[in-house]
Amino acid sequence: MEKNNKKRLVDNNNRVINYLRLSITDRCNLRCVYCMPEDGIDFLSHEEILRYEEILHLVRLCVEKGIRKVRLTGGEPLVRKGFLKFLKSLREIDRLKEITLTTNGVLLKDFAAGIRDCGVRRINISLDSLKPERFFRITGRDSFEKVWNGIQEAERLGFDPIKINVVAMRGVNDDEILDFARLTMEKPYHIRFIEKMPVGGHNRWSVESFIPILEIHDRISTIGNMTPILKRSSLDGPAQRYVLDGARGEIGLIGALSNHFCSICNRLRLTADGHLRSCLFSDKEIDIKASLRKGDGDAALMGLIEKAIMDKPESHNLTRQGLRNCARQMSTIGG
Ligand code: SAM
Repeated sequence: MEKNNKKRLVDNNNRVINYLRLSITDRCNLRCVYCMPEDGIDFLSHEEILRYEEILHLVRLCVEKGIRKVRLTGGEPLVRKGFLKFLKSLREIDRLKEITLTTNGVLLKDFAAGIRDCGVRRINISLDSLKPERFFRITGRDSFEKVWNGIQEAERLGFDPIKINVVAMRGVNDDEILDFARLTMEKPYHIRFIEKMPVGGHNRWSVESFIPILEIHDRISTIGNMTPILKRSSLDGPAQRYVLDGARGEIGLIGALSNHFCSICNRLRLTADGHLRSCLFSDKEIDIKASLRKGDGDAALMGLIEKAIMDKPESHNLTRQGLRNCARQMSTIGG
């Protein structure tokens, strides 16, 4: 742990910002109902998207300022051409302790070995249903088998942890909460239930479909004793973690709305089109790509990184009563 504050990004609310989430593309091979509809999405042009070398440059500067963990997300990161080569270059950045990936798993079976060869061990895979027909209804694609095979391949190759992200939606997949929880008895997976968030114009958020994590906790506790697991490192995520008696895996509850974790939020985001964003729910952003492309030097760019951190809102202030949607799509921000 670095003691020197100059090597750490500390915001106005005394939060150490050491985690960067990178959306490397706004394209995706699924069309999840709450994220990306079949039609009506304005994809970014090739020119608008940050090039890999630009991302690497900015990540090096962020690491210089104190970022120690990077998550690759999107859109679907595995659909971007040259992904593995990029990952290898990212791996070579000194002082970057951890690289993780969030994927929908459709292409994972083919990519898993290459990702592992780049030194990545931790992976998050999104899966909202264990039923192929329902998976199709939620994602618009008949790809359940591919995702499941990708998860099996990740397990076979020794990825650890394998986190499975489940967006819990009442009337859509809430009847599978216990099936997902039971999966942790036989598999070493970390099943993480995520509250549906009002991000992007297409998310169809409604109070009716929202399930608070407290309710998920109560439902799971009907099938077994849930022992809390304590946080081990400052790079650990915001999930409340539990293990069911006798389970190989664990359960995580992420209450972005009902039990927000703003006071410990350590995140900065770099959007696919090169904007720094310090809060998922705030549309206040800094266009660092414009500065980079007009040839500004590293000192100026690092100044923008610092500014983004200093402007980080204390809290997203969203409540179930006072919701407002943020304008950007999740795919460009990076979920
Ligand atoms: N394509 C990758 C994937 O599916 O994991 C990475 C990008 S995706 C936007 C990242 C995560 O955000 C997924 O787990 C997805 O379910 C979640 N997500 C997208 N929109 C959401 C919303 N409105 N509320 C909660 N989670 C959401």
